[in-house]
Amino acid sequence: MSTEYDNFVGGEWLPSDDGETFTVRNPAATDEIVSRYQRSTEEDVDAAVAAAAAAQPDWAAMPGPERGAILRRTGELLAERKQSLVTTLTTEEGKTTAEATPEVQRAIDIFHYYAEKARDFDGTVKAASGRDKTLHTRKEPMGVAALVTPWNYPIAIPAWKLAPALATGNAVVIKPASEAPSLVRAIVDCLDEAGLPAGVVNFLTGSGSEIGGPLVSHDDVDVVSFTGSTRVGTTVYEQSVADGKRAQCEMGGKNPAVVLPSADIDEAVEVVGAGAFGVTGQACTATSRAIVHEEVYEEFVAGIVDHAQEITVGDGLDGADMGPQVSESELDGTLQYINIAQDEGARLAAGGSRLDEGDHADGHYVEPTVFADVETGMRIAQEEVFGPVLAVIPVSDFDEAVSVANDSEYGLSASVLTDSLSEAERFSRQIETGVVKVNEKTTGLELHVPFGGVKQSSTNTYREQGDAGLEFFTTTKTIYTNF
Ligand code: NDP
Repeated sequence: MSTEYDNFVGGEWLPSDDGETFTVRNPAATDEIVSRYQRSTEEDVDAAVAAAAAAQPDWAAMPGPERGAILRRTGELLAERKQSLVTTLTTEEGKTTAEATPEVQRAIDIFHYYAEKARDFDGTVKAASGRDKTLHTRKEPMGVAALVTPWNYPIAIPAWKLAPALATGNAVVIKPASEAPSLVRAIVDCLDEAGLPAGVVNFLTGSGSEIGGPLVSHDDVDVVSFTGSTRVGTTVYEQSVADGKRAQCEMGGKNPAVVLPSADIDEAVEVVGAGAFGVTGQACTATSRAIVHEEVYEEFVAGIVDHAQEITVGDGLDGADMGPQVSESELDGTLQYINIAQDEGARLAAGGSRLDEGDHADGHYVEPTVFADVETGMRIAQEEVFGPVLAVIPVSDFDEAVSVANDSEYGLSASVLTDSLSEAERFSRQIETGVVKVNEKTTGLELHVPFGGVKQSSTNTYREQGDAGLEFFTTTKTIYTNF
């Protein structure tokens, strides 16, 4: 029997307005129902936003260090529950234990980081242009924040939205992805236990297409932060800004890794392989295009094919290198792109098949897949697959490599593999992305520096993480005093 979980509204765990629920399944064993959650309605959205709006002024009035103490305690409680959170993450989303462990740790670290920020984040004092006058600024919370999060980093992404929103005195309504809501429930549980006043955080589950619109366009919501697909994010942005809300949407990617002749090719294979097949390719920053100089092309393709073929695929709890895709529909999407690439004339060099026999019979498994001889105009080189599929594109020089890397509607993360300082520096200046890595994989982010994309990867309104996260959730008031 799976456990049924409630929404959290106004400090109480409550069923949805009409009592409907939905199930969450284990992607490694699809017969296994992990949990049941509330299928919320617009009435639930209204109640959650009302609770947030009522609680927000008192929360904002609480001194920053006191808010920070609650966030710190939340981080401690998450740390105490770390092992069980790792297991939940794996059984709900499919990441391996080795991948889920640092993600949970990251959420813990984010709460500790913003706990300290709550103490020292505020305005500045400036010289006034007159005697007996002062001039200073104060950072004030935006008000009620609506947070909509995806399933692929089901604890890290919610943490990097929740912690800065709360640290700066906002109240929150958060709606996690329906594929993996349990980690957000766990954070909310810890916040509650840590002493967060009732109504400051509200947790609603349910279909994004049913309650997402009403939430992000609600009259009493002031600020919206979304991470997910470009298709949904674009709509969320339009709905949010229509009546003047501040909004930030982080969306898809088609991230390139450029391999140049001076690179150590064995190392390049490791870096690109980790970026392409880590977390089953289900990262917005996953490497999905390897753009390789012709001088090292054959050596790189041979290496990356070996790398892909050595990866063990299986249940993330059983020590496999790569887990399943999160759902049947995500797996179908990947298999469709594998067919499309073959129809387009790309050369299937490794993988390409669903795994559905023996130990794989009950999960959403696919082989790590490499396509070689890909051309930049092909759909496999342009569209986000969101599975473990790498397109390898040959190029003849540095300028062509940059041009192919920039030939994308997305612009999230990019990497260059080179031993040349000049190439590294020129690449970092010429690439059209929000994140650039030199001799590092496109995935993996530090929590205290800005993160976000350009082009279709982001609304490019505000960055997330670090101080940028605090800026997004606050507005600046300028105070002129003549005393
Ligand atoms: P989706 O866009 O499908 O869903 C994201 C969230 O939006 C979910 O909570 C979903 O709810 C909700 N939602 C769905 N429809 C609507 C709607 N009409 N209005 C408001 N909310 C809605 O993305 P995925 O969860 O599939 O996540 C994968 C995507 O996220 C990939 O494209 C990936 O690149 C991107 N991503 C981007 C990152 C970045 O920082 N740039 C980081 C991580 C992922 P429900 O689950 O109920 O459908």
